[in-house]
Amino acid sequence: VKYPLPLSKLIGWLQKLPGVGFKTAERFAFDLLSWPSTELAALHTALAEIQQIIEPCPVCGSLKEKQTLQKCFGCDAEGRDGRLLCVVASPRDVYALEETRSFRGLYHVLGSLVSPLEETIPPPEAIDTLLLRLTLSPVAEVILAFDSTLEGDATALYVHDFLKQRPLKVSRIAFGIPLGSHFQFVDGGTLARALLGRHHM
Ligand SMILES: [Zn+2]
Repeated sequence: VKYPLPLSKLIGWLQKLPGVGFKTAERFAFDLLSWPSTELAALHTALAEIQQIIEPCPVCGSLKEKQTLQKCFGCDAEGRDGRLLCVVASPRDVYALEETRSFRGLYHVLGSLVSPLEETIPPPEAIDTLLLRLTLSPVAEVILAFDSTLEGDATALYVHDFLKQRPLKVSRIAFGIPLGSHFQFVDGGTLARALLGRHHM
């Protein structure tokens, strides 16, 4: 089947999304064809804005809106416990943990994980930023909240290596998170228990 070129291109782009194969992308593309032009324009604007308006929080690396806020919601919130710092891989993990409503400390986004298979580590700046933040703030406990996967385990050990000389308690969430799971897919209750049941490294 030969679709008009713009339609084929759109299907190609949609297939870049996680979990979207050709058939699903095709269905989405045909649906979009029937959208009124006002809605397509709104989608177009929304896509442009995710780059124009969102930037990393200068403190924790999570997401914030440019101009409107100095820091992200997590860093800015009242009543947070500055002695607890939860290190996660991506901004999305911050939102997953916030949804559990069981963590009142601060967050730090590492940005990437160690990949033993691809033999990659997070960029040195990512570790430097974390260490600098720990030096400048009254953090007493670092909670490593990475996926329960090969990458998550390797990253926890890697980060722990940089922290073990410091007068800090380092713990890792583990209990309740099934082995091999990405915590985006773990329900809030399980994630909350994993936080509570964190163990010291
Ligand atoms: Zn922040």
